[in-house]
Amino acid sequence: MSAAHGAAVVGAGPNGLAAAVTLARAGVPVTVYEAAEQIGGGTRTGELVEPGVLHDACSAIHPMALATGFFRAFQLERRMRFVVPEASYANPLDGRAGGGSDRAAVAYRDLGRTAAELGRDGAAYARFFRPLLRHLDGVVDFSLGGSMLRLPADPVAAAWTAARTLEQGTPLWDLRFREEAAPALIGGVAAHSIGRMPNLATSAVGTVLGALAHAAGWPVPVGGSRAITDALAADLLAHGGRIETERTITDVRELGDRRAVLFDTSARGFARIAGSRLPAAYRRRLGRFRYGDGAAKVDFVLDGPIPWADPRVAAAPTVHLGGSRAETAAAEAEVAAGRHPDRPYVLLAQPDGFDRSRNPAGRVAIWSYTHVPAGSTVDVSERVIAQIERFAPGFRDRILGVRVVTAAGLADYNRNYHGGDFSAGAVSLPQLFSRPVLTRDPWRAPARGLYLCSSSTSPGPGVHGLSGWYAARSALRHEFGLPDPDLAVDANA
Ligand SMILES: Cc1cc2nc3c(=O)[nH]c(=O)nc-3n(C[C@H](O)[C@H](O)[C@H](O)COP(=O)(O)OP(=O)(O)OC[C@H]3O[C@@H](n4cnc5c(N)ncnc54)[C@H](O)[C@@H]3O)c2cc1C
Repeated sequence: MSAAHGAAVVGAGPNGLAAAVTLARAGVPVTVYEAAEQIGGGTRTGELVEPGVLHDACSAIHPMALATGFFRAFQLERRMRFVVPEASYANPLDGRAGGGSDRAAVAYRDLGRTAAELGRDGAAYARFFRPLLRHLDGVVDFSLGGSMLRLPADPVAAAWTAARTLEQGTPLWDLRFREEAAPALIGGVAAHSIGRMPNLATSAVGTVLGALAHAAGWPVPVGGSRAITDALAADLLAHGGRIETERTITDVRELGDRRAVLFDTSARGFARIAGSRLPAAYRRRLGRFRYGDGAAKVDFVLDGPIPWADPRVAAAPTVHLGGSRAETAAAEAEVAAGRHPDRPYVLLAQPDGFDRSRNPAGRVAIWSYTHVPAGSTVDVSERVIAQIERFAPGFRDRILGVRVVTAAGLADYNRNYHGGDFSAGAVSLPQLFSRPVLTRDPWRAPARGLYLCSSSTSPGPGVHGLSGWYAARSALRHEFGLPDPDLAVDANA
């Protein structure tokens, strides 16, 4: 097959690379064009704060690396190393007496241990997750398996997922709980998705990520997120694919005659670059796709681990710092109203305690971000430091270096993140179904050979490669008449 009969992929994020790997494995000649100097999009790692100290530039937390369809088919865990900690995440809380902050809720992989530490709500928490864990593959398939218009493979799993999502996505969310810790754990993970709470979209995200935390766990990639990029790129190159960096595609016509072009761009970018070949009605539908609020990132170099008031927090690579669920919801409501909360919800990763290979002794890399209004240029570092200090007195004294990227800065870093919205489109209830438009094949545009494969499509944001995989399989079927390829290690070698 010649290049003219082959494919091009615009953008080398995890979805673009997943798409390219899938095409290459099927025997289609494929070239990936990436605007930045480095491939990886949201999965890059570098010396961002201080030479010799590695930080993840965007994603650091990988709940979907072991248990979701594309990475399972690709056998990612055989191509790179992960450390899977006993604890997936923790949520520090203010102490009961004297206003101190010396207790936390911890989500261990072991649901029983998690429940045992949750006091009076332990049994109710376990009952919440147990049916999801019994049907985990079905839960993952229902939540991340493709277009929301298809019939679920496991209707019982779908029913449990929907019931749990409804319960935690409405004002009934506290009904089964009597204390603060269990709702804080559930709220902290739901808030990965930016938006007012309670809300069905954040609840849907929290339900599946929470279930994964109590199953395969939330693994830490050894070497940082770029190890995922490297594994994808190595397979692509080994199967004849090509990658060109520092190649910004501004018009689809630059790519000449290709049988398929897949865009790892935002829906807005797709409409702009491929607009000349897209029907006007479809362009109008893409124009109605909404973008969400943004994130501001604050990375630190410390001279030692964070001095958490509750030492159990050090056992979790991911920490949700919003206090109680009511407080997290209040902070998210402030952001939705266009303000910067004084006590923001902060998502923090402390990978060095689990991956000792990354950084030299005496240097600890801390990654964090918080939600801010779209396009914000505000330096939120003081608020983030205060929120960490609240649960880890003495944190401030450990800081050797800080780097802040505002929401506007994130948009400059990656043209998919409009206004700092790194989901490349708001995660709202309507956009769970129409991502970017309501159809059974949301990756395939109504124009010959054109596909959107980024997180602007189903199943949305996160490092899972699923959007790329689904788009490439659709292209293989419709443009090349080819079946889904085997992606396992050594297949086609
Ligand atoms: C601060 C931050 C923290 C995050 N944390 C997490 C996390 O912990 N866990 C998680 O799972 N997810 C996280 N995410 C989200 C995750 O990174 C994204 O959902 C994911 O990277 C989306 O993958 P993608 O391939 O769709 O797009 P991207 O990763 O954004 O990649 C798109 C690529 O396309 C390139 N591109 C765009 N337009 C063009 C063009 N016209 N020509 C050529 N190239 C182009 C871009 O330069 C980019 O490299 C985070 C994101 C950010 C910003």
